[in-house]
Amino acid sequence: MDILAQPVASLAGVGPKSVIHLEKLGIKTVQDLLFHLPHRYEDRTKVYPMHTLCAGMSVLTVGTVEFTDVPMQGRRTLLCRISDGTGALTLKFFHFTARQQSALTAGTLVSCFGEIRNGYQGLLELVHPEYKVISNTQNITEPCLTPIYPLTEGLKQSTIRKAVEQALALCLTDDSKLVDWLPQSLLNQFVYPSLKEALQLIHQPEEHMSAEQLQYGELPALKRLAFEELLAHHLLLLSNKSRIKKWQAPVFKVDQNRVDQFVSTLSFQFTSAQKRVIDEIVADCTSSQPMLRLVQGDVGSGKTVVAAYAALLALSTDYQVALMAPTELLAEQHFRNFTQWFEKSEVEVVSLTGQLKGKARDKSLDMIETGVADIVIGTHALFQDKVNFKKLGLIIIDEQHRFGVGQRLALREKGQIGDVRPHQLVMTATPIPRTLAMLQYSDLDISIIDELPSGRQPVVTRVLKADRREDVVQKIKKWTDNKHQTYWVCTLIEESDVLQCEAAEKTFEMLVKALPTVRIGLVHGRMKSKDKDGVMQGFKNHEYDLLVATTVIEVGVDVPNASLMIIENAERLGLSQLHQLRGRVGRGKEESFCLLMYKAPLSQVGKYRLGVLRESNDGFFIAEKDLELRGPGDVMGTRQTGLMQLKIANLNRDVALLESVQEAGKLLCEQYPETIQPIIDRWLNQATQYSEV
Ligand code: ADP
Ligand code: MG
Repeated sequence: MDILAQPVASLAGVGPKSVIHLEKLGIKTVQDLLFHLPHRYEDRTKVYPMHTLCAGMSVLTVGTVEFTDVPMQGRRTLLCRISDGTGALTLKFFHFTARQQSALTAGTLVSCFGEIRNGYQGLLELVHPEYKVISNTQNITEPCLTPIYPLTEGLKQSTIRKAVEQALALCLTDDSKLVDWLPQSLLNQFVYPSLKEALQLIHQPEEHMSAEQLQYGELPALKRLAFEELLAHHLLLLSNKSRIKKWQAPVFKVDQNRVDQFVSTLSFQFTSAQKRVIDEIVADCTSSQPMLRLVQGDVGSGKTVVAAYAALLALSTDYQVALMAPTELLAEQHFRNFTQWFEKSEVEVVSLTGQLKGKARDKSLDMIETGVADIVIGTHALFQDKVNFKKLGLIIIDEQHRFGVGQRLALREKGQIGDVRPHQLVMTATPIPRTLAMLQYSDLDISIIDELPSGRQPVVTRVLKADRREDVVQKIKKWTDNKHQTYWVCTLIEESDVLQCEAAEKTFEMLVKALPTVRIGLVHGRMKSKDKDGVMQGFKNHEYDLLVATTVIEVGVDVPNASLMIIENAERLGLSQLHQLRGRVGRGKEESFCLLMYKAPLSQVGKYRLGVLRESNDGFFIAEKDLELRGPGDVMGTRQTGLMQLKIANLNRDVALLESVQEAGKLLCEQYPETIQPIIDRWLNQATQYSEV
């Protein structure tokens, strides 16, 4: 039998409990252990004299106990002072036993490892260090860096380390069958070491290697593994795509009468970019393979009406349509638009959001199940278990960047009727650079609306110091007198929703005082969504001249008459987010303005960022800059909750690999299809295959 395929229980020191813990990490076989990679290293290769220590270092140090004490006042704590002749250090324990205490008598020699912190009265301390009472200083260092593995509750670092050591030894024996799935030509091209070599280096770094060397990813072995991991993610999406493309989808009809009628209700002509994308969608939906299409288009490029066109095809063929938006507000807005667009054609548009309760909800659910509802618009409430579509033919997901990859994949499994599965259309206003798109969207075909409706003028953007507030308030007054509307966006650091809402409330009060003749509305995230929607709707109907808001208005809200936007603390937001916000203005025929207010002094990067926005209105360009400044890890990671967990690759560090990952993906699909599933399985066990989202 293949030794690497054996269960982990076959290794020494892995008992039934450990088996359960390891399984939680997706580790079942000896081979799985090999691919459980350390996420960092500790350096126990040398003993640090105490005078060389400072806060933040994680080090091994050795000293003699001077005294041990449990002071009477404060929280019960065991303090143990040790010194090595060059300096001293306090070991601190909040949980300890009497036995521990008595073992640390004066004169005892101890070795300890931990992170040094600044302690009481400038003395350095180690809180709950790993320590050992020793009799001499022999054999306390390790020959090489110590790998630290991701754990799960109840599993000990030492257990997993010993298990990996054994797995590695088995892997390195000559008769082990660790197949290197990367073709030799590829390894030669990039000068990558073999898989065995790479794994050995990661789990047992060579003696001379430093933690930095291993972290910065310059080692070919590390690069190779990062490359292979990214490739596995890419292949997963590609293989998902080809799996789904084999499914049956309804073949939609194009009913020219209905199309003409729909187009005649619109007050505008499609742009040529919209026409091109519509053609791509029509081609997809009139075939029996499911459409998997992403429409990228800058804010205001008119994605919604393109989605409505796709919906029309489904309706003409007697299929239902589900449209999912990320917020209730947006769902409402789509509901109104679709109701209006389909008013004349006896189409039943139904809304289903989390807000909808009781009888109204039951009614909606009933209409969906009996097929009375043609178009169902809602938030992710749409895809709960209780929602059963009679004949779902098309799923539309708006502002995809708010949902993760996982949610998208989960949705695919919904809405199956017999062998037939719905088409899918995904829309996003966050253009993502091409190289990153392959990691996130390679299961989708991409269409781009790269043109704004005619007559739109770029938003004129100005950058102003916060102390110009007074002038800005006067400008609002003038704006209002000219019958135009204004947004005032209050921003704070994103984690604090509460503070952000407070800031908005304060600003609201200030503006109400300063502008008694201006009708002012307020929306923020802590309001009930009903109230929020009421105010938004009021703003749309021009019952308010000025809307004070938090970043809740970021996504998709459409009020063409609003042509001035003030963003406070603009220096705190990311470029893409600012661009999204700014996209709320510039939707009408009038020239629009966006005033970015900042608190001085502005950092160098802050200055550059606001400058980018002042100079450009191009979402793709801005996204590239955002990426440059923040790094792909942050751009993709923070808001994409469903994003893959990477074991060894690091998007900020490894972005340069993406191009070649894509090439390799193509090569494997065309020439080595048999390697695809093994690579995916090896790197992405069930725990990481997005299934948890
Ligand atoms: P986004 O792409 O940001 O979702 P929307 O779909 O909300 O943009 O469209 C923004 C506004 O532009 C809406 O008021 C919409 O009716 C309008 N619009 C869409 N297409 C056109 C067009 N071809 N010409 C003029 N206005 C359009
Ligand atoms: Mg939109």
